[in-house]
Amino acid sequence: MFEPQGARLQEEAYRPLTSLDPEDWQDLRVQGHRMLDDMLDHLEAIRQGPVWQEAPSSVRALFDAPVPLEPTELADVHQTFRDAVLPYGGGNIHPGFMGWVQGGGTATGMLADMLAAGLNANLGGRDHMPIAVERQIVEWTRELFSFPETASGLFLTGASQANFVAVLLARTRALGGNIRAHGLASGPQLIAYASGEVHGCVPRAMEMAGIGSDHLRRVSVTATGQIDIEALQRQIERDKTHGLTPFLIVGSAGTVNTGAIDDLDALRRIADAHDIHFHVDGALGALGILSEELAPLLAGIGSCDSLAFDFHKWGQVPYDAGFLLVRDSAWQLETFASEAAYLTRASTGLAGGDWWPCDYGPDLSRGFRALKTWFTLKTYGLKALGDSMAANCALARNLAARIEREPCLQLLAPVALNIVCFAYVGRRGDAAATINPRIIERLHAEGRVAPSLTILDGKPAIRAAIVNHRTSQMDIDALIRGVLSFGSQEELSTC
Ligand SMILES: *Cc1c(COP(=O)(O)O)cnc(C)c1O
Repeated sequence: MFEPQGARLQEEAYRPLTSLDPEDWQDLRVQGHRMLDDMLDHLEAIRQGPVWQEAPSSVRALFDAPVPLEPTELADVHQTFRDAVLPYGGGNIHPGFMGWVQGGGTATGMLADMLAAGLNANLGGRDHMPIAVERQIVEWTRELFSFPETASGLFLTGASQANFVAVLLARTRALGGNIRAHGLASGPQLIAYASGEVHGCVPRAMEMAGIGSDHLRRVSVTATGQIDIEALQRQIERDKTHGLTPFLIVGSAGTVNTGAIDDLDALRRIADAHDIHFHVDGALGALGILSEELAPLLAGIGSCDSLAFDFHKWGQVPYDAGFLLVRDSAWQLETFASEAAYLTRASTGLAGGDWWPCDYGPDLSRGFRALKTWFTLKTYGLKALGDSMAANCALARNLAARIEREPCLQLLAPVALNIVCFAYVGRRGDAAATINPRIIERLHAEGRVAPSLTILDGKPAIRAAIVNHRTSQMDIDALIRGVLSFGSQEELSTC
């Protein structure tokens, strides 16, 4: 065993002059505590500030600076951060944020990420406890989604990357591991299927995989925004008749536009009937499994072959923390494991360990996303996280009910989960649809609430995605007030 005592005596003499460690740890400690307190102050008072404000040009100019050849005091760099970055964030930690689908994060997650950065672990592989923490999360998610013992999983940047990896796994399953060396050129034409409401990262994954987005069939949806099962079946039959090779069905557990959840049991049956890989994009909705109230909506999710989801959305883990769960880890190994001399394994020692994530996905160097996730799950417990998701859905239902009572507003899609799409239509119901993008811009400029814009059936829609655990009825009321007030002002100014 290494004996540190004697070494410490000589330490000063041998301290490299080029080391980046501080000379005075006490100074750093004081400054570090200041930075921590400052950020906690910011989080504590988050509701008092605007959701978003535009950064003035003087602030932007600070990031058009020359390359810093000489050092600057940490306190001064931090001061620039306080002045120029902190007040001008994207707003997703604010309770009034309802745009896109973004998580709110937590103070606990922030503290854990600080610890992770201090440890600076590389989770590509080897034998160290950070790997065991990630494995713990894999094991927990495997249980949550009732995946079999053969399952594995890993952290990725986000669901975009997890969906991409799933396309690669499905490709390997369809064509065999040799496809890695041979490429796609001479093989059969692979075809994937998803609803027309599938997230844009899925066609892009098809492009990145070299299969091409033209070979993703975007099947029509029903009035509830779910994939039309019969249309899907007909399309698969038609493609097979034409000699094409169906290889992947992507179900959505929460579509990005309206939160609709496809009939996952039906997709499983179709995938089985045609021997197709069944993947679920659960970026937005899968973690609803943590809520007793929401879990039934996700029926069948545990039957898929692979599942992408984001701890950084509804899981409230700070960015980034995407995840892919895979029914059979052999598919991952067949797709990614490689031999490299510099990654030679050992049976004991640091180069040991029987789970090297670099064999299961595209990344070699990987950060310790598992730590902030582990802290979040442990400190809050799954019930509290699930309750917060159910509360988001209750707010969404309240919002929808209020919209239906307001003559000037129109609900544009059924509310399946936590997303509400609506429009200002005016008293006579004929206000120009183009008012809605204007209303959203004015809401952002005002800084009280921030919904985002989407297009439904060719028409602009105000979209409120309630994802943040801090959002309350007060914010929903402010949204309604803001939309009605800007809506009537815009209506007057356009006629
Ligand atoms: C957010 C989202 C994605 C993309 O996930 P990232 O984590 O942003 O990469 C994919 N699908 C759906 C349904 C989403 O909501």
